[in-house]
Amino acid sequence: MANLAVMLEGAAATHPDRVAVIQGDSELSYRDVDAAARRVAGVLVSAGIRPGDRVAFSCPNVAEFPIVYYGILKAGAAVVPLNVLLRGREIAYHLADSRAKVYIAHRGTAALPIGEEALEGFRATESCERLFLVGAEPGAVPEGADRLEDAMADVRDVFDTVEVDDEETAVVLYTSGTTGQPKGAELRHRNMRDNAYSVSKVFACDAARPDTYLAVLPLYHSYGQTVVQNIGFAFGGTIVMLPRFDAQEALELMRRHRVTFFSGVPTMYWGLMAAANESVDVAQVARDLRVANCGGAPLPVEMHRRFEERFGVTILEGYGLSETSPVASFNPFGREPKVGSIGVPIPDVEMKLIGDDWSDVDPSPGTVGEIAIRGHNVMKGYFGRPEATRAVIRDGWFRTGDLARRDEDGYYFIVDRSKDLIIRGGYNVYPREVEELLIQHPRVSLAAVVGVPHEALGEEVIAVVVREPGADVTEEELVAWGKERLAAYKYPRQVRFVTEMPLTSTGKILKRELKEMMAGA
Ligand code: AMP
Repeated sequence: MANLAVMLEGAAATHPDRVAVIQGDSELSYRDVDAAARRVAGVLVSAGIRPGDRVAFSCPNVAEFPIVYYGILKAGAAVVPLNVLLRGREIAYHLADSRAKVYIAHRGTAALPIGEEALEGFRATESCERLFLVGAEPGAVPEGADRLEDAMADVRDVFDTVEVDDEETAVVLYTSGTTGQPKGAELRHRNMRDNAYSVSKVFACDAARPDTYLAVLPLYHSYGQTVVQNIGFAFGGTIVMLPRFDAQEALELMRRHRVTFFSGVPTMYWGLMAAANESVDVAQVARDLRVANCGGAPLPVEMHRRFEERFGVTILEGYGLSETSPVASFNPFGREPKVGSIGVPIPDVEMKLIGDDWSDVDPSPGTVGEIAIRGHNVMKGYFGRPEATRAVIRDGWFRTGDLARRDEDGYYFIVDRSKDLIIRGGYNVYPREVEELLIQHPRVSLAAVVGVPHEALGEEVIAVVVREPGADVTEEELVAWGKERLAAYKYPRQVRFVTEMPLTSTGKILKRELKEMMAGA
């Protein structure tokens, strides 16, 4: 039984002087982070927060993130991390839906005015009692909000972490919103903690040889929380904060701070490769890099190959969801990965393939089914939505909505999200397969395949493509490329070119948006 805040406290007790966080030119030790987090907890308790309450939190990847996150946990409350791109109206929805009593928001920047949006969302939500802004200049806090740093300075007593039951909720994580109305996945203290420890085994983390992490994945998402922040803290590592992903800057920080552990989504790897062609001593970065892992969206096989060629490091692909804290599987470390595979279940997690009626599919290699997950990482349920919870959890198994097949060695290969499946004239087309093929074209940099309504066929397959920088390729060439290599019902009949893909803030391609764009075009 231990509060998830143990991740910070253990390290602060054993090596208080180690650098925990680097942001720009400033560094914070474990002692600094722990002391500040205790003050945050003190502020929250004075504001009436009690164990079992929820505190919403909007913050980019800056030093205040772990301070406030662990501070909320120390007070015995659950963190409700919000996407920093949400607008006031959306924030109000999240505050009301999670019934957060207190909201802490970073003031943001001119380009990303989190503070202004936070204020609007807070004012529109009666159930939320207090708003604290963090990172604001003294005296620059608008009416109705308080400056967190002022409140922290007023805390007198050293705050000791509230003991909580392992089964209590530590984080209410709103799922990315690429699918319907956002719902809050309730993750218990043990879910988050055990998932970080389990992933640490996969990557052979060792407190005697702490890693340096680059925090480019948003920490408000569980991938960033577990595979960067919580692992980093638990093993006494150093986390280099990058508030806004910029590939050039990411490479430069990796070189300067000798980053050993990089976690990213495919579009970030793609960005790193493009930036590596320009400057930066990539050889130095490659020498230091011990772990490169990828998840959140399919990593095209071709991108995997190109990255390894350029950086000399194999990207290990894994898989998970907000509802599973998030990691469920990874390609094992220290072994040649199976490219294109999401690997095998991590320690203490089981995976299987099921049909619509929850029954196991035929277990022979190659059969496609929906991935179901059971283990330490499966959420308690969707906050305040027992019916939605019952629809996805049965006998401890969580059904994911992702279609996959398994090979003879037990490795899983995602075929697609069941919702992304295109059905053209009665035939199933898995967009992923078509995307993989398109990106193999030397002049294609990124491809997304969607289905658009078609009178006769039900749906037609359309590809949206970003060309390689400076390269020229036509629609006819790509249609022909597909036609030569794919079954007739699969290849894209139309190709549209864009200079940028619409992405979620976690770097996933917004298929729904693309579909709408293409259907209306
Ligand atoms: P989220 O809840 O935002 O973490 O999104 C989870 C979804 O991301 C999963 O249901 C999958 O559809 C997708 N996903 C995660 N990892 C992978 C991967 N390695 N390959 C393909 N899709 C993935």
